[in-house]
Amino acid sequence: MNEETVIRSQPFPGGGFFDDEERKGILEVIQSGVLSGFVANAGEQFLGGKKVRELEEDVCRLFHSKYAVAVNSATAGLHAALAACGVGPGDEVLVPPLTMSASASAILMQSALPVFVDIRDDIFSVDERLLESKVTSRTKALVVVHLFGHPAEMDSVLKIARKHHLKVIEDCAQAPGALYKGCLVGTLGDAGVLSLNQHKTITTGEGGMVLCNDEAIAMKVRLVRNHGEAVVEGLGVKDISNTLGWNYRMTELEAAVAIGQFRKLDFLTRYRQELASYLTSSLSRFEELRLPETLPNCNHVYFLYAIRWVPSKKGLTRDEVVQRLNREGIPFGAGYVKPLYLQPMYQQRICFGNAGWPFTSVDQPPNYAKGICPVAERMYEQELLVTSVCRYPVTKADIDDIARAFDKILAGNLASKR
Ligand SMILES: *Cc1c(COP(=O)(O)O)cnc(C)c1O
Repeated sequence: MNEETVIRSQPFPGGGFFDDEERKGILEVIQSGVLSGFVANAGEQFLGGKKVRELEEDVCRLFHSKYAVAVNSATAGLHAALAACGVGPGDEVLVPPLTMSASASAILMQSALPVFVDIRDDIFSVDERLLESKVTSRTKALVVVHLFGHPAEMDSVLKIARKHHLKVIEDCAQAPGALYKGCLVGTLGDAGVLSLNQHKTITTGEGGMVLCNDEAIAMKVRLVRNHGEAVVEGLGVKDISNTLGWNYRMTELEAAVAIGQFRKLDFLTRYRQELASYLTSSLSRFEELRLPETLPNCNHVYFLYAIRWVPSKKGLTRDEVVQRLNREGIPFGAGYVKPLYLQPMYQQRICFGNAGWPFTSVDQPPNYAKGICPVAERMYEQELLVTSVCRYPVTKADIDDIARAFDKILAGNLASKR
């Protein structure tokens, strides 16, 4: 086995695309001597520095959003958005379990309780048909995640939310630029949150953005971003609920980079889409693979390219396929992430302190038992394999190696099955 040549001995090229736009912006900031323009008082600097404001204006224009509030991560943005939407102790918030942990932990940060709703097995976002059955008198909001870059079924989500007076927070960390019926995700719900972390389509290292169209929500997000408790008096804010502030402020350096990055979003998204559709056509001959679907009226921005393994007669498991791909130098991960309720924090109900807060804040805390979301568990345990290589500056020649590796693994050698 060791002497055998592998399909790839070179790693796939890393992500990230920066040019003079970012370089010039950073230099300007350094030369100005002001690396952060924020001050936590009721003056003008409450809203941050020059680059932060320029960035927010750019993003409003790009996303056709009335407000855009820059923060220092999507995790911070999700927390601020939940606070701004009025979520508080004992409230229930619906969220899918197969997502990055922050989609749900941001709910706990408000001492509210995540209620996990299973996902669809085609687009991997929340199964909208299950949402309504999870609504109780305590349900206040839902966090909808546009997983892997495909929009969730927003018409149904919004309809249920409206009927039950729930706020909708869109976690768009993986889907900047994705369209649902012609509208950019992040602008459909009450608030939308983008991530600019190192691994996302556009990046400032760490960073995030909250989009919304409601002035009161925008104001609360800004208060949560910048020590609201110290500012509400000076600003004459009457409703001080959920205005406890944190330091979620973005630096001028990050904002300078973000300005350049948002200008590249369209290019980087098209690049991903082109590689993904090339990969789909080259993998379509493998019966064992269920390739990514795009629902009508949606577009997929392929933050991750997710395949379902349909167990074959040959008896290979998903994990064996992933091991063999990795051995061939093809980076695929098995399962994406463990359904969140299976993490120790939910299983042991230990979050703030050791007495079980906030799970103990209600008589009947949500159920986190294994088995509550069978589709998410099956995707995690048996079916999903994901790769992040459909991105700039990976080439089609690089992508060809993926089909060659599947050929080798599934057919035993390169020549057969053609
Ligand atoms: C990356 C990610 C986050 C968190 O983003 P940060 O900017 O690192 O806080 C949240 N939700 C999803 C779905 C993500 O992929």
